[in-house]
Amino acid sequence: MTKWVYSFGDGAAEGRADMRNLLGGKGANLAEMSNIGLPVPPGFTITTEVCTYYYANGESYPESLKSEVEAGLAKVEATVGATFGDASNPLLVSVRSGARVSMPGMMDTVLNLGLNDETTAGLARHSGDERFAYDSYRRFIQMYSDVVLGVEHHLFEEALEVVKEDKGAILDTELDAPDLQRLITDYKKIVEDELGRPFPEDPKEQLWGAIGAVFGSWQTARAVTYRRLHDIPEAWGTAVNVQAMVFGNMGDDCATGVAFTRDPSTGENIFYGEYLVNAQGEDVVAGIRTPQHLTIAGREKQGSDLPAMEETMPDVFRQLDEVRANLEAHYRDMQDIEFTVQKQKLWMLQTRAGKRTSQAAIKIACDMVEEGLIDEETAVMRVEPQSLDQILHPRLDPKAERKVIAKGLPASPGAAAGVVVFTADEAEKLAQEGHQVMLVRVETSPEDIHGMHAAQGILTTRGGMTSHAAVVARGMGRPCVAGAGEIRVDYKGGAFSIAGVTVKAGDWITIDGSTGEVIEGRVPTVDPELSGDFARVMGWADAARRLKVRANAETPEDVSTAAKFGAEGIGLCRTEHMFFEADRIVAMREMILASDEAGRRHALGRILPMQRADFVEIFKLMRGKPVTIRLLDPPLHEFLPREPAEFEEVARATGVPVERVEARAAALHETNPMLGHRGCRLLNSYPEICEMQARAIFEAATAVGEETGAPPLCEVMIPLVGIKKELDLLKAVVDKVAKAVEAETGTAPNYVVGTMIELPRAALTANHIAETAEFFSFGTNDLTQTTYGLSRDDASAFLTNYEKRGIVEQDPFQTLDQAGVGELIEIAVERGRGTRPDIKLGICGEHGGDPSSVGFCERVGLDYVSCSPFRVPIARLAAAQAAIRARKHAAEKATA
Ligand code: ADP
Ligand code: MG
Ligand code: MG
Repeated sequence: MTKWVYSFGDGAAEGRADMRNLLGGKGANLAEMSNIGLPVPPGFTITTEVCTYYYANGESYPESLKSEVEAGLAKVEATVGATFGDASNPLLVSVRSGARVSMPGMMDTVLNLGLNDETTAGLARHSGDERFAYDSYRRFIQMYSDVVLGVEHHLFEEALEVVKEDKGAILDTELDAPDLQRLITDYKKIVEDELGRPFPEDPKEQLWGAIGAVFGSWQTARAVTYRRLHDIPEAWGTAVNVQAMVFGNMGDDCATGVAFTRDPSTGENIFYGEYLVNAQGEDVVAGIRTPQHLTIAGREKQGSDLPAMEETMPDVFRQLDEVRANLEAHYRDMQDIEFTVQKQKLWMLQTRAGKRTSQAAIKIACDMVEEGLIDEETAVMRVEPQSLDQILHPRLDPKAERKVIAKGLPASPGAAAGVVVFTADEAEKLAQEGHQVMLVRVETSPEDIHGMHAAQGILTTRGGMTSHAAVVARGMGRPCVAGAGEIRVDYKGGAFSIAGVTVKAGDWITIDGSTGEVIEGRVPTVDPELSGDFARVMGWADAARRLKVRANAETPEDVSTAAKFGAEGIGLCRTEHMFFEADRIVAMREMILASDEAGRRHALGRILPMQRADFVEIFKLMRGKPVTIRLLDPPLHEFLPREPAEFEEVARATGVPVERVEARAAALHETNPMLGHRGCRLLNSYPEICEMQARAIFEAATAVGEETGAPPLCEVMIPLVGIKKELDLLKAVVDKVAKAVEAETGTAPNYVVGTMIELPRAALTANHIAETAEFFSFGTNDLTQTTYGLSRDDASAFLTNYEKRGIVEQDPFQTLDQAGVGELIEIAVERGRGTRPDIKLGICGEHGGDPSSVGFCERVGLDYVSCSPFRVPIARLAAAQAAIRARKHAAEKATA
C-alpha cells in the first residue's frame, strides 16, 4: 500500500534528504534536519504523489489519506503536548507548500492555523498573553482568507487602517487586545460579506482547506508559466508540509531570522544573517522593520548600531552557530536557513543549498576542497558555467556612484565607459588618437564592424538580443546594451536625448552590458580576476573534460584574448572581416568591379600581402595550435556601400565610372542573400579568390614555421557546401596552391581541407562529403537558420512571442535545438565517421559557448567546441561538467 504521509520531528523522521522527489525540497530537508538531531518543530509531509493522484482523479484524495493525516497530527500533538482544536491548550500549525525545486507561484504559507474564537481564548490563557493571542488570530484570518479563500487582501488592510486611525496609532504594534478584538470582528464580517458564508471556525475544515489550496496552486497560471520557463514537468507535483507552530512573536526573548552559512556574495567563510526580535514568519524579509545582524562582525561591517544576536541572545547565538557547523559538515555545501527563537529556544524551520554569486561559488568550492568537505570534481560541479560571464568581464566598481539614465537589453556582458561617437569611422579615428569611445547607433550593420572594434562598448536603440550589434558584440567580447528604445538619437545634431537629459558627441557615458543600464558620465570599472581560485577551479575542470575548447577569433586582439582564456586552437577564423578595413576595402571593391579575371587577379594581388600578414600574426599568437580558416563567406554586395550617394566615392577611389558601380551593385542585388551567391558558390564562380586566400595561408604558415620552428596546422575550411562536388573543385584549387608554395619555398605546408556543415543537405550527405573533407565544423548559426527556414535577422519580430506562448521553448539561436538541428548533427557525425573514422569534428556556432549545447556536443562525441573568446572558460567548465555527468551516468548504469 502506498504511504502518503511522512512524519518528522523530535529527533527522528520517516523521510530523508534524498527523498526530495517524494517529499519536496522543504519536506526532505525538514526530515533530514530532524534525523541529524537539529531542533525542528514536529510535523508531517503529504507527498507529491498525493498531488499527482489529486489531478489524475478529478481533484480527489486517495482513500487512506484522511486517516494518515489524522495519525500524523496525533503524533505531533503527542510530541508538543497540545491538541489541535482544543479550547484550553490548542496546537497550532503552519501549512507550507514545497515542490522539488523552490517555485514562485505556489501557495503562500499559512501560519497559526487552528485558531477560532474558542482556541484563541485558550491560547491567551495558556500563554498568559492576550495581545499575542488576538494578534495571531487576526493575522491568521487575514492570511487564510487571502491565500485559501481568495478574499482580496486590501480589504483587510483597509479595515486595519480604520482601526489604527480611530486609535491614532501609527504602528500595528500600538494596537492593544481590545483593538485587535474589534479588528477580528471586522475581518470576519468582510469574509462573510465577500463569500456569503462565515469564516470557517472548525480547525479540521481549516486544515483541509489549506491542504486543498496548496494542491490547487500547482495549476495556477503563475505556477504553470514558471514551470514552462524552467522546464519543470507538471508530473512532479508539490508536497504539503504541516508543522507545529513555534512563535517568535511572544515577547522580547523571541525572534525570527534567516541566514547563510557563508557570505553569499563574496563566499567568505563567515556566518551571514539577520533577525528581528518579537516577530513572526516573513517579517524579516518584509521590510517593515529594520532587521539586525546576527554577528558583531556583521553589524560592524555594515555600520549598524542595532545590537547583534551575538550580543542580545548569546546562548541562542551559540546554538545557532553550532547548527551552522553541523549543517555544513552534513550537507557539504553552503546553506540558506530559516529559524525562529521562542522564549530563548532555537527552532529550525528550513534549510537548502544557498544561492550565490559566481565569485562566491568559486571561493566556496575552493575553500571546501581545502577543508576536506568535497572533492575536486564536486567543486567543478558547484560553479554554474553561465555565471562565469559575471566575472570574466570588467565590472562597474561596486563602490562607485552611478546615475542611470536609460535601460536597454543586456546584450553583451561587461561594463565600459567612453566618449560618445555616432559613426564607426569616428569611433576608429578617435580610438586611434588614444581616446576611449562608446559607439552609439540606432542599429549596426556589417559596415560598422571596424567602429565596433575600436569602441569600448556599443549602445543601440533598436534591435533585440540577436540583433547584429548584440551578436557581433558578444563575439568580440565588447559590452553592449541593445534596444534602449527610449533614447532618441539625433545623428545630424550629434546628440542623443532621454527623459530631459541630452548627451552630446564627446560626452562620457558608461554602459553595463550585464544589466542593460546606461549611465551618465564615467563610472570606474574593475578588471576580472583570472588567477587564484578561478584558475584552480579551471584547472580541475581541464583535468575532467574530454572535449577540446577553441575560440572563434580573427583579430590579433581576439586571438590573444582567446589564448589568455585557455583556447586550444582557433575553431573559426573568418576572413571577410579582414577585408572591411579602410585600406583594404578599396582593393576588395576593385576586385568586385573588375570586368574580367585579369582585373580581379590584379586586385587580389594587392590584397594577398595584407591577408598574409594577418595570418602570420594569428599563427604566431597561437604557437603551433590548430587554426581553422574559413575562406570568403558573405555575398559580394556586402562589400559595396548601401546608399547610392556613396557610389560616387567608390567610383573615385577605384577609378571606375560611377555608372559601372551602379550597374554592378544592381547586378549583385539578391532577393535572399542568405541563400544566395555566397560561400563555396562564390568561390567556385571566382576560384582566383580561393587561390589567393590559400596562398596567403600557406605562405604565412611557411614563414612562421621557419621563424619559430613550430609550423602551424592550417585547417582550410570551405563554407556553405551542400554538394560534394562543390568541395572537390575547391579542394583541388587549394591542393594546387599548396604544391606551388612547396615548389617555391621548399617546404610542404601542414594542412587539411574540410567544410562547414551548415546546410541540411550537407548533413544528410555527410558520408559522401567526408570522402573529400578531412574535418567537419558544424556552423550551427546557419544550420539553425536553414533547418528552420528562418532568417535570424528577421526572427526577433515573432520569436519572443513564440517563446512567451510556448511554441518554442528557447531561442534556437542561443540554445541548440537538439530535436531538429541536433538530429541533423547526429546524422552527419554518424555518416561522416562511417566514411572517415578519424574525421575531426567540431562546432563553431554561437552554441559552442552555451552550456547545455556543450552538453549535447559531449553526448554526440564531437572533438571540440569553438566559441567567442570570452566564453572559452564557460565552455571549458561546461565541457568538464558534461564529462563528469557522463561518467556518473555510465557508472550508475554499470551498477544497475
Ligand atoms: P517560503 O517557501 O516562501 O519560504 P515557508 O513555508 O518557508 O515559505 O514559510 C514562510 C515563513 O513562515 C518563513 O519565515 C518560515 O520560517 C515561517 N514558518 C513556516 N512554518 C512555521 C512554523 N511552523 N512556525 C513558525 N514559523 C513558521
Ligand atoms: Mg522559507
Ligand atoms: Mg555560415
